[in-house]
Amino acid sequence: MKIDILTLFPNMLDGLLSESILKHARKKKLLTINVHNIRDEASDRHKMTDDRPYGGGPGMVMKIEPIYATLTKLGIKLNKRVAKTSLLNIDRKKTRIILMSPQGETFTQKKAAFLSKRKHLIFICGHYEGVDERVKKYLTTDTISIGDYVLTGGEIATAVVIDAVARMIKGVVGKEESLSTESFRNNIFDWPHYTRPQDFKGLKVPKVLLSGNHEKIATWRKDRALRNTLKRRPDLVNRHKK
Ligand code: SAM
Repeated sequence: MKIDILTLFPNMLDGLLSESILKHARKKKLLTINVHNIRDEASDRHKMTDDRPYGGGPGMVMKIEPIYATLTKLGIKLNKRVAKTSLLNIDRKKTRIILMSPQGETFTQKKAAFLSKRKHLIFICGHYEGVDERVKKYLTTDTISIGDYVLTGGEIATAVVIDAVARMIKGVVGKEESLSTESFRNNIFDWPHYTRPQDFKGLKVPKVLLSGNHEKIATWRKDRALRNTLKRRPDLVNRHKK
């Protein structure tokens, strides 16, 4: 999969995208990630990427032209004028252009699975008051929020989405089996995990996990996963398929 990130603060993403699983996925060429500074494509003398909002009010708004120019530089096919309510002339099954915004659709494991099956993802990170609304309307396929709170910029949110998507790409996570039992995969949490020591200051590992009886262990794990989900997220359990 190819990923391009459009941002005004490329350095923010450095560590997040080059450690742990993402580092290995990039090394194994399962993932190519390129970060692009939107400012490089600003055409005026002062390299302006934001301006005051029409209608007044506080803060600055990110301009559409440098974003359009960066997408063009990436080889994304764009119409010169709006056609069929979009400026995009792309195969939406293969390519998704995602604006990060607190006003977007809330990111879920289901959305991560959907995105993990695409060839090319492009993320647009907002900053300041946000991005000119015409970017959302005419230059993107998706608008994603990572939760009901407001961050300073879209970079951390983008890293969150990329991390969740990457681990669903075949070959990225060492043991594929661990994905099938992960929380949210089937609207149920993962079961509780324990490792050595068996006894930590009197806190003991549940006996059943030491029994060697695989059937009993499987039943216990299923039961705990269900109980924990019911306790903390009863809304999920109704959607769980046995
Ligand atoms: N004025 C905007 C509003 O109230 O909806 C908030 C702008 S926020 C300070 C700046 C940028 O951070 C946004 O354009 C977006 O890219 C990113 N951002 C903030 N919160 C986010 C969230 N929960 N999910 C995804 N992106 C977020």
